[in-house]
Amino acid sequence: MSELGPSPLTAHEDNLAVDAARAAIAAALQPIDAVEPVGLGEALGRVLAEDVISPIDVPAHDNSAMDGYAFAAADLAVDAPTLLQTVGTAFAGTPWNGPVGPGQCLRIMTGAVLPAGLDTVVPQELVSVVDGRVTIPPGVIRAFENRRLRGEDLARGRPALTAGRVLRPADLGLIASLGIPAVPVRRRLRVAVFSTGDELRSAGEPLEPGCIYDSNRFTLLAAVRRLGMEAIDLGLVRDDPAALEATLERAAREADAVLTSGGVSVGDADHTRDLLARMGEVAFWKVAMRPGRPFAFGPIRASGAADRRDARPVWLFALPGNPVASLVTFYVFAREGLLRLAGAQAEPLPALPVRSAAAIRKRPGRSEFQRGRLRRAADGAWEVAITGAQGAGILRSMCEADCLVLLRHDQGSVAAGEPVEVWPFDALV
Ligand code: AMP
Ligand code: MG
Repeated sequence: MSELGPSPLTAHEDNLAVDAARAAIAAALQPIDAVEPVGLGEALGRVLAEDVISPIDVPAHDNSAMDGYAFAAADLAVDAPTLLQTVGTAFAGTPWNGPVGPGQCLRIMTGAVLPAGLDTVVPQELVSVVDGRVTIPPGVIRAFENRRLRGEDLARGRPALTAGRVLRPADLGLIASLGIPAVPVRRRLRVAVFSTGDELRSAGEPLEPGCIYDSNRFTLLAAVRRLGMEAIDLGLVRDDPAALEATLERAAREADAVLTSGGVSVGDADHTRDLLARMGEVAFWKVAMRPGRPFAFGPIRASGAADRRDARPVWLFALPGNPVASLVTFYVFAREGLLRLAGAQAEPLPALPVRSAAAIRKRPGRSEFQRGRLRRAADGAWEVAITGAQGAGILRSMCEADCLVLLRHDQGSVAAGEPVEVWPFDALV
């Protein structure tokens, strides 16, 4: 037990269900509180720190959804042609300020203000016009069509976006449409990443017998950047307690969270467990999942703080070393945890049901995350096929895939044609 006393995190669980591990992580984390203003040009992917309240009605006026002729619905004849006299033109940005009386209409462009009393727009292609006299054939238009109402997009005083939103392109457009040039966002989360293992070499170095190139660091640094966070590359660390301690100390000073891959997660050496117990309250879990069984999580603190309890915790996510396992555990555990720390609304990824192209063997009692490819079957429905060898070390299976196939804890084997859930890798916006 660490000097911080007992904690639910320090329990050694040997067959922890994925959902229980996720819940424990979510319960432990509080968002960082630093906030800074950013202009809309820099706000993509940032986490909104406060609700954006609309200071205006959008649109500010009733306006036309079409190029055509605006008139009062009361003038619309029921079974006969409607005859109207054009009195002027309203352009977007240049309203018509004159009167429009009974039996009259206004030539109007899309987005132009509808003057008081005019409530219907007939598209220009539906009418005939001779010398400014407009004829609307019966039945082509109904009252109030093609009118956009003031405030229909957003009413003044209403929240346009809520705190925790990870800003997307359309959000930036929405904020701009309110006339707001900058918004408060959380400071970017700082996530340190390092790889552990004596056998690891960096690309560009010679490879001695028995050694392999470090891939996890590049995968994980990129995955962190994809979440809009600042990734700090702490390099390669040998399986040596002093080196591990020095790197964790640095991570604890510079980052909000640290992702490691390799031996640390198993705590395979006693000195690793001793070190982590000295630095914080890291729990070592054997999660009932494939790939990615060993996993460790918890707060660590830089040494030197007089009262360790008050020192800012840095959250360690120690991922397994096998390349597929480290990325899958990143998506299953670290993604949601890091988003929560960043102050984001950490919605679980949508799991979409699609048909399995072939039978999949699976035993109940653990979660499996297989790599799949989505395709259109002959009948037009989407189905998913598993991509070749599924070994936890075969990173190619991840590159060839465009989704993860989720086989839940209690689920058994799947027959061809049965639905399975998938997490697609790419989304539109
Ligand atoms: P470990 O969890 O350290 O026992 O590693 C499990 C397997 O993953 C071993 O075959 C390691 O060589 C491999 N591995 C560990 N770290 C990395 C890494 N950063 N890049 C590629 N493979 C790794
Ligand atoms: Mg290792």
